[in-house]
Amino acid sequence: MKPAPFTRHVPKTLDEAVKMLAEVAPEDGRVLAGGQSLVPIMAFRLAKPAHLVDINNVEGLDRISSENGALVVRALVRHAAFHKLVVDNLLGHLLTKVAHSIAHYPIRTRGTFCGSLAHADPSSEWCLVAATLDAMIVARSVRGERAIPAREFFQGMMSTALAEDELLSEVRIPLLTPDARFGFQEFSRRTGDFAMAASLVTWRSEGGKMRDVRVGVGGAEPSPRRMAEAEAALEGQAPGDAPFRAAAEAAATAVDAMEDHQTTAEYRRDLVRAMVRRALEQSAK
Ligand SMILES: Cc1cc2nc3c(=O)[nH]c(=O)nc-3n(C[C@H](O)[C@H](O)[C@H](O)COP(=O)(O)OP(=O)(O)OC[C@H]3O[C@@H](n4cnc5c(N)ncnc54)[C@H](O)[C@@H]3O)c2cc1C
Repeated sequence: MKPAPFTRHVPKTLDEAVKMLAEVAPEDGRVLAGGQSLVPIMAFRLAKPAHLVDINNVEGLDRISSENGALVVRALVRHAAFHKLVVDNLLGHLLTKVAHSIAHYPIRTRGTFCGSLAHADPSSEWCLVAATLDAMIVARSVRGERAIPAREFFQGMMSTALAEDELLSEVRIPLLTPDARFGFQEFSRRTGDFAMAASLVTWRSEGGKMRDVRVGVGGAEPSPRRMAEAEAALEGQAPGDAPFRAAAEAAATAVDAMEDHQTTAEYRRDLVRAMVRRALEQSAK
């Protein structure tokens, strides 16, 4: 199928983009970033926006920088940018590891980090990263700028705190400390498919004990989130099989697993248990 007719607007600056979005948002005007989710949806006529604000020519939006202890990822940074180390910090290695699990190579050369967050697919790896690491998501509109914590940003299946006239201009992800560890695991039926469940864990090693533990789970509920019950089972413990199994069990118990055409809630709950345990094991290697 072909998309319904639309008008494409091509701003050159962020201010111009935000102004255009304010004008067309009431007619279901949308931002076009990498187009890897929006274009297929339009081709199937599941969305029929009358206007697209194409941000691909906006200067400076493809920049990544490190500022005030955070990695700043702007709106046009493609998934493929993370194939190599973007920052000399463990976070850079974490992002490289995660990036290779997203879709297929051609999609990674077009799709954007911020577009993934705005789209808010439950299985999105970048959404899991933002939720687990408590990233700040910056929204720009003609009314100004606001920073939204990830835990408030994701509001359910493909639903976010962005207003229709707000452009997600950048994401700020806290850098990891030198004593940090991470593990990332996901399960999908075929390479490149959306994950049926995924887990990202980070913790700091202090005197042989795990501190500041974060256990994120994605692909299992409508939005990715940290699992407080699993984190509590690990905080202050020495890394090892028993606490890892206890945390995995706590996550599996706490998760309100989705059921869909691919699988039952019970199977997805089992996957959560396995992904959390494997991510923890990987983090301890
Ligand atoms: C075959 C296939 C497999 C895929 N597998 C995966 C996968 O395994 N994991 C995964 O995470 N993704 C996967 N994707 C999706 C891909 O990662 C997309 O690139 C991503 O979801 C959206 O990014 P985009 O830049 O392409 O956004 P677009 O498609 O341009 O936009 C998506 C939505 O977000 C909005 N939007 C985009 N940018 C902004 C912004 N800056 N401000 C406000 N709104 C914005 C758009 O208006 C639109 O509603 C897959 C896609 C395909 C086609």
